[in-house]
Amino acid sequence: MFEQNQLSAMDFGTMSDEGLIEALRAVHGAAAAAQAAEVFAVRELYRRARAASAEPGPGGVRAGEFAAAEAAVALYVDEGTAGALIDIGLVLEEALPRTRMAFAAGRIDLAKVRVIVDSTRALAKEVVDALEPRLLEAAARTNPARLRQAARRWANRLDPGGARRRRERRQENRDVRIRAVQDSMAVFDGLLPAPGAQTVAMRLREMSLQVCAADPRTMPQRRADALVALADGSGRLRCRCGRGERCPKVGVPVEPPRRPLIQIGIAADTLLDMREAPAFLAGYGPIDAALARLLAEHASFQVVSEHTDGGATDEAALRRVASEIRAVDGMCRFPGCTIPAAEGELERSGGGLAVLCSRHGRLKSLADKRKQWRVWRDDRDRLQWTAPDGDVHTTVREGARYLFPHTDIELPAVETAGIRAAFTADRPTGEELLYPLDGHIPLHRQLARIAPENDIPDDAPEHRG
Ligand SMILES: [Zn+2]
Ligand SMILES: [Zn+2]
Repeated sequence: MFEQNQLSAMDFGTMSDEGLIEALRAVHGAAAAAQAAEVFAVRELYRRARAASAEPGPGGVRAGEFAAAEAAVALYVDEGTAGALIDIGLVLEEALPRTRMAFAAGRIDLAKVRVIVDSTRALAKEVVDALEPRLLEAAARTNPARLRQAARRWANRLDPGGARRRRERRQENRDVRIRAVQDSMAVFDGLLPAPGAQTVAMRLREMSLQVCAADPRTMPQRRADALVALADGSGRLRCRCGRGERCPKVGVPVEPPRRPLIQIGIAADTLLDMREAPAFLAGYGPIDAALARLLAEHASFQVVSEHTDGGATDEAALRRVASEIRAVDGMCRFPGCTIPAAEGELERSGGGLAVLCSRHGRLKSLADKRKQWRVWRDDRDRLQWTAPDGDVHTTVREGARYLFPHTDIELPAVETAGIRAAFTADRPTGEELLYPLDGHIPLHRQLARIAPENDIPDDAPEHRG
């Protein structure tokens, strides 16, 4: 294996073509071995967290999960990725010893490890023991996509009777998720049992045909609109042919959509068309000013003052301050978390109120008892989190960056002939370029709720025994 200083000292410019390919193989193996070390290290962190929290009760059972929070904050990756690394580490140790060794030696990379983990997950132990050496041989001379095909074929040959069991196991992985991409768009994605997926597909098709033939939308556009119409309560598409009374579909009643399903933060001057600062769509991130104004046409409004005060005592004032704090916080105040503030709870944190999602609210309340994570308030804007390893991470009020654009002081600005152009280093959330783990479904159930969006909040206190 190459040491890091050897790698950076390689002079690619002087190598022959063959030498370059040779070097490429070597560095790929070194990267794989380093990722294996990362998997084993985070898995060890998890083991220790579990061992330290053996006591019964909701805190004890789940405390190991916060190893993922600690790793995620230290590496600046999302918690779902850290959870997937822990899960893969556990599976390698429990069921795939040969794969574990090959990974540690850098003979296979994380993408192929993931294929082997995925394609052996619902197989009997004897089948896995027979299959694993073959998969490793194949992994040495093929790419992850072909390896996945071969694994499926062999699994079906070795265990033809297991199809029903695999289907039943697979159904446990059903899921619907969204992922923000550029330009105010998001990918809506999911894994459903085929009959359920077909039910959704046929319903969308039916709805797509509820408008007349002159509706200008393509079928893909209609299906997309129909899915939203299913969710917003309107239940059907309104025809856009623009023919008024001559439209054969005129007079079909369309329910008005339910409104308070989304929340947008927008600066007052942008709303009034005097400025083009981006607005904030809770759960997504920045959207352009024109789209925000379009959405605002049907919105109900709440005015948020820049100097929200926490000194209110009567019930109504507290409620008002609570919604203002949600607006200026924008999202959960734990480092790296993107859960919208509307879905979080207000918690006393470092002597003030701040929004935390259910997962990080639990982390903080455990921390209060164990003194592992410490939270304090630097000023009105900044919350400091000290991780168990002593590292300090600061979070700011994200919502305020949109509501009061002049507070966005980290924004690099470029002046060009009177036009003010700004560049931000945003990357779409949910994309980890280093870890080919997008959509990994943990085999260990306790790891399936590590991503904050998968956390199931505890019941209200009165339901506890
Ligand atoms: Zn029409
Ligand atoms: Zn959170």
